[in-house]
Amino acid sequence: MAPHLPAPNLGDYETARESFQWDQAWSGLDGLPDGAGVNITYEAVDRHMRAGRGDKVALRWLPRRGDPVDLTYADLTERTNRFANALATLGCRPGARIATLAGRVPDLYVAALGTLKAGAVFTPLFSAFGPEPIRQRIDLGSIEVLVTTPRLFKSKVRAQLDELHSIRHVLLIGTTDDGFDDPRLHNLDTLLTSADPEYTIAPTPAETPALLHFTSGTTGKPKGAVHVHGAVVTHYYTGSVVLDLQPDDVFWCTADPGWVTGTSYGIISPLTHGLTSIIDEGDFEAERWYSTLEEQRVTVWYTAPTAIRMMMRVGEEAVAAHSHASLRLMASVGEPLNPEAVVWARNAFGVPVLDNWWQTETGGIMIANYRSMDVRPGSMGRPLPGIEAGILARNQFGDIELDGDGKPTVITDTGTSGELALRAGWPSMFRGYLNQRERYDKAFVDGWYCSGDLARVDDDGYFWFVGRGDDVIKSAGHLIGPFEVESALIEHPSVTEAGVIGKPDDTVGEIVKAFVTLRPGITIDNDLRTDLMKHARMRLGAAVAPREIEIVDSLPHTRSGKIMRRLLKARELGLDEGDISTLETQDQALERDENDR
Ligand code: ATP
Ligand code: MG
Repeated sequence: MAPHLPAPNLGDYETARESFQWDQAWSGLDGLPDGAGVNITYEAVDRHMRAGRGDKVALRWLPRRGDPVDLTYADLTERTNRFANALATLGCRPGARIATLAGRVPDLYVAALGTLKAGAVFTPLFSAFGPEPIRQRIDLGSIEVLVTTPRLFKSKVRAQLDELHSIRHVLLIGTTDDGFDDPRLHNLDTLLTSADPEYTIAPTPAETPALLHFTSGTTGKPKGAVHVHGAVVTHYYTGSVVLDLQPDDVFWCTADPGWVTGTSYGIISPLTHGLTSIIDEGDFEAERWYSTLEEQRVTVWYTAPTAIRMMMRVGEEAVAAHSHASLRLMASVGEPLNPEAVVWARNAFGVPVLDNWWQTETGGIMIANYRSMDVRPGSMGRPLPGIEAGILARNQFGDIELDGDGKPTVITDTGTSGELALRAGWPSMFRGYLNQRERYDKAFVDGWYCSGDLARVDDDGYFWFVGRGDDVIKSAGHLIGPFEVESALIEHPSVTEAGVIGKPDDTVGEIVKAFVTLRPGITIDNDLRTDLMKHARMRLGAAVAPREIEIVDSLPHTRSGKIMRRLLKARELGLDEGDISTLETQDQALERDENDR
């Protein structure tokens, strides 16, 4: 370890794992005064102000254009007080659902934290959603208040406002002199200015609903996962032991708060540590990102595999053109992080790159690589102290195999894959899928929460992602995980991204088919095709290597950046594309830049 680096928050992993109790993690938080429970915003904001750290910058906002804007912990305390009071003035009761539809602007953060302070439920909607996905989620979530910008309101909400029956109020960020005239519309600034700056948080039992998050819709229709205020202990604890957050850090989570990572780690976790968190309004652009790392002296950076693969595509020289001397840690979540990407980023930035696994349903990081432990490129790491993870056997239909007593079989031999499951009961576990009780119950088997992902464990207890349950390929009796095949393909110097599917075949059940995108400037010819095939066979062996490799311009991604294999498959087989509300299209990506404001 370099001498100027602080000691990691997590010392020896094994010791922590043996001795950890969740009570220990709770001791890092304050709880509401007089034992009135736990409120996420109190832990993230107010307690720092009360402890005399009100002047510290909590959020540093980098607008697309123009100078940074700082919000201190004192500013955030006051603005969220005002927001909570404004909700009360509008007649919103605790438990009411408040949604945001906005780009990464400061008022989104005020609305999120103000909502939680008021005991209402915060639901982020991704700003690039079109009118239909917005309507679906507002209906499903019975959203009462929508906080949005005049521009997004005009382009995506106004025409359907009368059909959005649950909406009682729309709070517009910024100016509203756009000729809108409707009693449901309010100017957020005006509301906040006239609201009382003092607010006393009502008693909040830890089980009080706090967040409603829609999943990414990677494998089907998005589901609404409900989380409670007590989840904050996981946000705080994982921020400490995985992201290694310390009060002097400048932390940057690149995820949009429209998704769970952008809320758990883009809003809540960093603030519970009293540090300065960067919010960048802009989207990925290598030059902008590297300047941000340099100018803001970012110390801990939480990003995603697609972003790292895009950086790889731009190349190491662009990284080297900037200083990133302050950076001490990089972490990644959302999709499997190919070993090649781990090694590339570690070399390019000179810091550990920690892949970690979790889901909307788990509310926070569950399996991770840690600063104090050797990173195995390609592995998602080991379960968080306090989390028991297991690999459960599945039957031929893909269901968890149960014995005569209804008990699942926990696979103990290393190397055999099965369904990744977690022992239920950790604080940030989701408490329900909205309006889908049966689906929620089905996710639990004999005290295990079954994730729907397939994984295996090695001899040292490291977990390796095999694939999403629905994406796994069965070929001639083998179970093939797309991740393994994709990782091997992107090791080829011409390939930047790969998506792998199973294609039905009369003889072997399914054959492996790969779609790859190439680095800029590569000539596509038969030599290249042959070379790709050769590379794949050499790395994977004939049984696992793709039978077909198709070179494409781009792969379909969700708006949260994940490869949508189910769509690749549907298109390949000419099937119905299913729910594509979270699909990112080229046009939408371009349009987003325009519409976000
Ligand atoms: P849906 O459930 O609607 O299909 P989704 O599962 O993509 O969408 P999220 O909850 O955002 O929605 O994503 C969680 C999933 O992302 C995990 O179940 C896993 O498949 C994948 N994932 C996240 N992090 C990792 C990781 N580090 N390695 C491998 N896979 C990961
Ligand atoms: Mg999922």
